[in-house]
Amino acid sequence: MNTNRLDLIADHAIQYFGTRNQKIKAIEELSELIQALAKEISFRPPGSHEDSFKYTGFNTMEEIADCIVILHQLRFIYGPHKIDDLIEFKIDRLEKRMKDVTHTDKGNK
Ligand SMILES: [Mg+2]
Repeated sequence: MNTNRLDLIADHAIQYFGTRNQKIKAIEELSELIQALAKEISFRPPGSHEDSFKYTGFNTMEEIADCIVILHQLRFIYGPHKIDDLIEFKIDRLEKRMKDVTHTDKGNK
């Protein structure tokens, strides 16, 4: 993924379409991803055959891509540095949680 191009296009898209329209677009794209994931889960219960997964799996990947593109635009709308700081905080917190779980599991064995 070319993040420089993604950032450049995100900035241009906000200028071209406007922040309000891109926020509405984000709502649409995030809703589509929610629907795709829900369909995928309902069509592919645990242990089901891989063939039933192909169509909804591709649809989910498309919606993930749409969301990444629009989320980059939201990042610019709300301030890339603020969002990047929050991402770092969330990643650190996630890493800490996984370490804590690993230590807890080791403690239980
Ligand atoms: Mg979409």
